[in-house]
Amino acid sequence: MTSLGEVTTASFETGIDYARKLDAIDPLAGFRERFEIPPAPDGHDGAYLCGNSLGLMPRRAKELICEELEDWARLGVEGHRNSTRPWYSYHEIFTETGARLVGAKPGEVVMMNSLTVNLHLLMVSFYRPDGARRKVLIEDGAFPSDTYAVKTHLRARGIDPDDALVLCAPRAGEETLRIEDIEAMIDDLGEELALVMFGGVHFRTGQFHDLARITKAAHDVGAMAGFDLAHAAGNVMLQLHDWNVDFACWCSYKYLNSGPGALAGAFVHERHGDDGSIPRFAGWWGNDPDSRFQMQLIPEFVPQKGAAGWQLSNPPILAAAPLVASLELFDEAGMSALCAKSRALTGYLEYLLRESMPETCSVITPSSTSERGCQLSIHVTDQPRRRFDALMEHGIICDFREPDVIRLAPTPLYNRFIDVHAAATVLGEG
Ligand SMILES: *Cc1c(COP(=O)(O)O)cnc(C)c1O
Repeated sequence: MTSLGEVTTASFETGIDYARKLDAIDPLAGFRERFEIPPAPDGHDGAYLCGNSLGLMPRRAKELICEELEDWARLGVEGHRNSTRPWYSYHEIFTETGARLVGAKPGEVVMMNSLTVNLHLLMVSFYRPDGARRKVLIEDGAFPSDTYAVKTHLRARGIDPDDALVLCAPRAGEETLRIEDIEAMIDDLGEELALVMFGGVHFRTGQFHDLARITKAAHDVGAMAGFDLAHAAGNVMLQLHDWNVDFACWCSYKYLNSGPGALAGAFVHERHGDDGSIPRFAGWWGNDPDSRFQMQLIPEFVPQKGAAGWQLSNPPILAAAPLVASLELFDEAGMSALCAKSRALTGYLEYLLRESMPETCSVITPSSTSERGCQLSIHVTDQPRRRFDALMEHGIICDFREPDVIRLAPTPLYNRFIDVHAAATVLGEG
């Protein structure tokens, strides 16, 4: 065995030496040193399997924030034009790196605001009820912020969510959705359906939906398709442009390691991006830069082309600096290498759990690698809290979703195979 690409379930072994062997051939192992790893209770490095909730700090983030503070001190307002990375055009740093991350064309992605804010802004533009076509399809058990956003958005637009909001639930006795059921539901809603708004990777189950097929099904009945990629961006391969997705948004503090409350992302497909007639909530930063500083002289909003035309405000530089550090790392490692390691890491975790996990625990995340990213969600029927506490006490940082799910998310940028081994061992000891 000389490369992680050759690792298959059949070659896995349960002993710790095998985990060490995998770490020794991991081509991305060096990236771990570029992060601050929180210590475990015993003072050693913890096994941080919680990057699905809050990613770790890239060391360079501090350096970049300090540079901006120094430029502010040295330059004041001149920093807009003359700082190391001029603030005036700061969002353009992400034009290419942000697009690469989600399989978009430069111009289809802008980094701005926070996730739920972007969701509202994009629904203003892409939820366009018309006569009988007014329904929105979301997953049953969607992340609460998304449910609140969609419900209140409908009400604010004069539409009763009890009439217009439709939930897509797994079959009785199943934890995850089947793509053919999602397609059938979209087809049934037909001309009443205005928008499908799904999570890309479900926060609780870790299921990665087939976004291309959902988008096609929505378009086939004349509806729009938008996705919340909070758990997908930086975790799975995305091809938003080729999949013809209408819009998407995501946060950057989970797999993208850009710090608590970090600047979020938004995608608008190019076929909409240049359409100035689309309704939107506008602000000066979305205006054509050529006339932005005409100020009161030009009271009519002239959107700039692409996703950038959805910006409202000038970007928060101190919040954006960690994103620069993070996307540099993603570019350096490359999403395909990250996904290759991720499949090995999560496949190994799944194997170890199958070997050692008590019967009262079961993985609810799909086992097909095309239907998941790095997260495995474990349903625990006896004493779920106690098992979670035991993991945390052993320095395995993970999280718990009420009432009975433990989520373990080994991320390829900073997790080791021995981290995964430690988690499975503690869970097995029960
Ligand atoms: C994490 C997460 C959010 C959080 O929203 P913020 O606006 O960033 O606070 C929303 N939706 C989903 C699906 C999430 O996973």
